[in-house]
Amino acid sequence: LVEIRGVHKSFGDLEVLRGIDLTIAPGEVTAILGPSGSGKSTLLRSINHLEPVTSGLISVDGEVIGYRRDGDLLHELREPEVLRQRTAIGMVFQSFNLFAHMTALENITEAPRRALGVKRTEAEAHARELLALVGLSEKAGAYPRQLSGGQQQRVAIARALALRPKVLLFDEPTSALDPELVDEVLAVIRSLASAGTTLVIVTHEISFARDVADTVVFMDQGRIVEQGPPAQVIDSPTHERTRSFLQRVR
Ligand code: ATP
Ligand code: MG
Repeated sequence: LVEIRGVHKSFGDLEVLRGIDLTIAPGEVTAILGPSGSGKSTLLRSINHLEPVTSGLISVDGEVIGYRRDGDLLHELREPEVLRQRTAIGMVFQSFNLFAHMTALENITEAPRRALGVKRTEAEAHARELLALVGLSEKAGAYPRQLSGGQQQRVAIARALALRPKVLLFDEPTSALDPELVDEVLAVIRSLASAGTTLVIVTHEISFARDVADTVVFMDQGRIVEQGPPAQVIDSPTHERTRSFLQRVR
């Protein structure tokens, strides 16, 4: 579903991604681990073209992100077309960044109504289903400031799901939360995983990654050092850098 081929990304002289190859199958849950600065967020952001890559290609469901295929040629897409591609790729950030002046329901219906032209009644019916899915049926009318951090993050997940994305990307979805609120968010992500949603999750929650991921990817200095099932990468890593990282975070 997601194919990442030979991706490099530099910011000026700094090469942040140094040749990333990764394939993500439909329904698969991929957890990305790695030290700070290893390029995890940059990789996620390049999947939905928030960061254009310097070289290499990323495709999602057969579409090359940022480009239109024309036979063997690729033409760069303009912003509106990139925005259309991006609707297939949901993203949930560490800071939930909900729209402060909108209720939970409005936060969820905004993008489908604006980006996809979904009718209000239809968007609201779907939003209520999504609120139920994340356990917040009672909070449709609440503004972000009236919600806990964990509740805000669950609304942010519902908002990302509202566009019916083919893949959902999470960048450290629980690291801005008070410890007692982490589990409720992880539970929602876990339920998405069991429902067969394709997920890519950057996380420092090692035990969560072990439970929920089909594939664990360990990144260091812009490269994938090691990847495989959790039993391999987390429980018996072969690379010294993976081992020392896991020792430090545990
Ligand atoms: P963390 O665990 O701290 O979130 P990360 O693995 O997500 O780290 P990235 O955010 O992808 O790391 O950053 C990788 C490197 O790229 C870092 O050295 C960072 O300073 C640099 N970087 C990221 N974004 C930019 C930018 N917009 N301009 C310049 N440098 C950047
Ligand atoms: Mg990051």
